[in-house]
Amino acid sequence: MSRASQVIEAKAAELNAAADAIWETPELAFTEYQSAKILIDFLRKEGFTVEEELAGIRTAFSGRFGHGRPVLGVLGEFDALSGLGQEAGALEKKPNGKTAGQGCGHNLLGVGSLAAALAVKRYLEETGAEGTIVYYGCPGEEGGSGKAFMARDHVFDELDAAVSWHPAIINKVRTSSSLANYQILFKFDGTAAHAAANPDMGRSALDALELMNIGVQFLREHMPSSARIHYSIIDAGGISPNVVQPHAEALYLIRATTNDGVRALYERVLKIAEGAALMTETKESHEFVKACSNLVMNDTLQREMDRIMQQIAPPVPDENDMEYARELTKRTLMGAKHANPDDPYAYKKLPYDFKEGETAGAGSTDVGDVSWICPLAQLSAATWCLGTPGHSWQVVAQGKLAAAKAAMRYAGVIMGETLISLLENPALLEKAKEEFRDRVGKGYVAPIPVGVKPRALSDL
Ligand SMILES: [Zn+2]
Repeated sequence: MSRASQVIEAKAAELNAAADAIWETPELAFTEYQSAKILIDFLRKEGFTVEEELAGIRTAFSGRFGHGRPVLGVLGEFDALSGLGQEAGALEKKPNGKTAGQGCGHNLLGVGSLAAALAVKRYLEETGAEGTIVYYGCPGEEGGSGKAFMARDHVFDELDAAVSWHPAIINKVRTSSSLANYQILFKFDGTAAHAAANPDMGRSALDALELMNIGVQFLREHMPSSARIHYSIIDAGGISPNVVQPHAEALYLIRATTNDGVRALYERVLKIAEGAALMTETKESHEFVKACSNLVMNDTLQREMDRIMQQIAPPVPDENDMEYARELTKRTLMGAKHANPDDPYAYKKLPYDFKEGETAGAGSTDVGDVSWICPLAQLSAATWCLGTPGHSWQVVAQGKLAAAKAAMRYAGVIMGETLISLLENPALLEKAKEEFRDRVGKGYVAPIPVGVKPRALSDL
């Protein structure tokens, strides 16, 4: 058993209980008061010095232990997703009465990262080595990019290196980048009028919004194929069709492989919005909601994480969980990519496959912003059975299984051992930092403008 495994397995019951408690209190971005408290109480009990309200965000916090350099970070998340309240362990969609659910497994994410911090703390205590471990409680990952606000406000500047992980259907070190994005709220204001009696007096904000959406639809043909533009209509005006709608709002999410790429697309979208206002004689305005950067790879640190991963056997789900996963697969996941009703879990590790220049899965993560500030590596751990779609009731249903929590602790062990390896091998850390400097060039430019504050989705 590795050093980190001994520490983490000795605390398994408490770690599992914390993950379950966060699952039971699903909270949306920037309102994760209970979830943050569960993690803060845990850190304090374990002797970490806790700092709250980082970057002025009520649910952002850190717990630190040790002294001097290097300063090593582990990133935890804990926010939930709207509309995904679901009974644990059910074989069908069965709402549990909660308005949100842990549909991205962040109850596991936050606690798995905390487990890694415990292992590093024990190492520092036992060896008396110089170094500091900092657990960062990072709120609002879902649609909020909490870490990008924290990064803009210099929370991570002290770091020499950082690690994180994400619940998944595979055990593997992450080797692909992610897309940078901007989220912008567009608003149109027109003039209300009786739609039949005085149509000439009305100027429709809803028309403007529809024209903007059509304009962006044409833009999609003329942008890089890796870029994405999504939108939702927040406010379509009123519900009365006999009124010319005087106000309309849409939330736009613009993604590209780099921050510069997003900026360029954003400027084109702005022109379309202005054009829509011009056509309809309405007024356009917009608010910057949030942004996040693309992930910077660090082959050196990722390889070290993989080397450790190849030495430590991942957990194998017990027969109870296997049987549940077989049944869940047969009933709800047939046809999903990789789903396997006979052998539902991919607990075997996948090989390291980083290829220079090969970027971007389709999604975005605010871990990207931290990867612009220090060398960073992440792993995926197989908390869910094969074929489980992200952000789904099946994720929520599997969130309290023993198999999910064993994979969570396994992620903690791999992250903990990776950080301990950096403490024991300063040359490796230096090599990771050299690679980091080469990759980021002139360094991090925060994509979120100064003055923009994090907002809960309900506050848009
Ligand atoms: Zn997530």
